[in-house]
Amino acid sequence: MKKVKILMATGAFFLSGMMFTACGSETATTEAEEQTANSEVYQCPMDCEEGKTYEEPGQCPVCEMDLKKVES
Ligand SMILES: [Zn+2]
Repeated sequence: MKKVKILMATGAFFLSGMMFTACGSETATTEAEEQTANSEVYQCPMDCEEGKTYEEPGQCPVCEMDLKKVES
């Protein structure tokens, strides 16, 4: 009976360790998503400047249309 108790304790410890690991990888995923969000660029919907992109939303200096978000 003693061995069973030890096994259960070990199992619980192992499970809590796995849950901790899962939480850790979740945080890593969120950080990766934030990095992707920062790489968003804006571009004229008419592509006046042949692929030129802007890091912030605004207006195209050529046709004065609102810049469109480009998702790479
Ligand atoms: Zn334009």
